[in-house]
Amino acid sequence: MTDADATGGRRQAELVTRLGAVRARIGAACDAAGTDMSTVTLIAVTKNHAVDDIATLARLSVFDIGESKDQEARAKLAELDETARSPLRWHLVGRLQTNKVNSVVTYAHAVHSVDRPKLARALADAAAERRSTPLEVFCQVSLDGDPDRGGVLEADLPALADLVAGRDELVLRGVMAVAPMDAEPDAAFEQLARISARLRREHPDADAISAGMSGDLEAAVRQGSTHVRVGSALLGRRDQIFS
Ligand SMILES: *Cc1c(COP(=O)(O)O)cnc(C)c1O
Repeated sequence: MTDADATGGRRQAELVTRLGAVRARIGAACDAAGTDMSTVTLIAVTKNHAVDDIATLARLSVFDIGESKDQEARAKLAELDETARSPLRWHLVGRLQTNKVNSVVTYAHAVHSVDRPKLARALADAAAERRSTPLEVFCQVSLDGDPDRGGVLEADLPALADLVAGRDELVLRGVMAVAPMDAEPDAAFEQLARISARLRREHPDADAISAGMSGDLEAAVRQGSTHVRVGSALLGRRDQIFS
């Protein structure tokens, strides 16, 4: 066995352990909430981690991969061979500039950070030209009303959701949020659950809730999250290999 194989083997063993621990946390939160674990999708947020980790996760049947930046996602995609790449679903979870949409629509399964009409229109226009299946969209909502941190204000969500739902190239899946820094996660995600319920009055199929990260996934699952985005608990400290 080469040193590289040994290192890869250790890393895989570490990921197996971490994945088990994260799944146990999600399972316990589902049990406590009386929901079935199959209703929660685990998205492995691999930003700032090596592409080898993505291949390892795929071997462990984790196919939902989250990245913050188009550039980094695209670089990793280019490094994966077809066998590793084909089962993956890429989720863009970070703030997205409209000049990235032509790239993003070529590989993304879902964008979780759609927070303004201009971005939604740009994604739909790019998708019309560059892909054959609709792009899944989560509207990112600001829970603290601070637009600098990303997210549409709750008052502006209905118009954004109508726009997304009105475009054949997009599928409105639901809402996404990050709990504000100083907020109590349960209260924040309860607020998001209320926003989701109001959205579903107009868009009954938009029932997904993308909420919960390494530090607050239990609170998110308690409040009905369907998509948890977990980075550091699954992969450890980020090495900043991409800038
Ligand atoms: C980085 C990131 C995550 C994962 O965060 P961890 O705390 O490492 O689990 C989830 N969502 C978004 C939007 C992120 O940028």
